[in-house]
Amino acid sequence: MSDPANEGVHRSVDAKYPFAFVTLVTNNDYAMGALALARSIFLTGTPADVVVLHTGGAPEEGLKHLADLGCRLIGVDHLPLSEAFNERHARKNIHGEAPFTKGRKPGFHTPLDNFCKLRLWQLVEYHAAVFIDADALVLKNIDKLFFYPEFSAAPNVYESLTDFHRMNSGVFVARPDVETFAAMLAALDQPEAFWKRTDQTFLQEFFPDWHGLPVFMNMLQYVWFNMPELWNWSDIGVLHYQYEKPWEDDHPRAVELKPLIDLWWAYFDGDGIPDIATLENPTKPA
Ligand code: UDP
Ligand code: MN
Repeated sequence: MSDPANEGVHRSVDAKYPFAFVTLVTNNDYAMGALALARSIFLTGTPADVVVLHTGGAPEEGLKHLADLGCRLIGVDHLPLSEAFNERHARKNIHGEAPFTKGRKPGFHTPLDNFCKLRLWQLVEYHAAVFIDADALVLKNIDKLFFYPEFSAAPNVYESLTDFHRMNSGVFVARPDVETFAAMLAALDQPEAFWKRTDQTFLQEFFPDWHGLPVFMNMLQYVWFNMPELWNWSDIGVLHYQYEKPWEDDHPRAVELKPLIDLWWAYFDGDGIPDIATLENPTKPA
């Protein structure tokens, strides 16, 4: 009988450690993101595996850089979802039915690809996994997250207190388990189901009692200018560049976010990475 942990998951190298940080790459842009992320994770001195789930859209060369850095690459197929589901979650429909009004999503962002994150539950060779979006950096050791319960994630805070009602799926703690994965697939593709923020909306509904991580474990870049009181460099475990990506050419917030963008490039280039505790916090309102 086929092993459900292998369906749609193509392993070529074995796990080295029973815990893993996991990210997802489906195209060249997110391969760039993952390179900076992976470098930042290795610099924390973690013994955990750094796994890159990738689809066929990820370029060979970008994947090679990730493997050279020490990542474990795992090919994944898109989830076996119905045609109708895929159509409802096509980019034009997500942007048409539930437009993004707070910031700009880059043209290279394909909403349907996000659901591939759920393949993490098939990585049963790991006791626990911490998923981190490819548009993030880890700024200090966060290995303690492996001992947090499923499902832990931080609130989606970047504008006001009401943001605490929602979670952000850019960082989460999970226990891989093929039964959970099967239950997720069944819950995901219901007739007429429309997950307006894709995996994020789905995971929040699938785990209604999600455990809250502190905001510092998924500090969203807009906090820098919207809620500067919350910002403290030495507290930040994960810095997450939601909406515009630091490597975009015509970045509409390049001026306001310059210190964060410069930091990302330092990790991407592997050159001039500063001591985070010495960085200046944003100016607080008077
Ligand atoms: N992703 C991807 N290709 C896509 C869209 C998303 O590889 O076309 C992955 C990537 O890891 C990315 C994550 O899914 O970081 C979620 O998307 P994104 O970070 O752009 O969403 P945001 O954080 O802006 O809501
Ligand atoms: Mn993200």
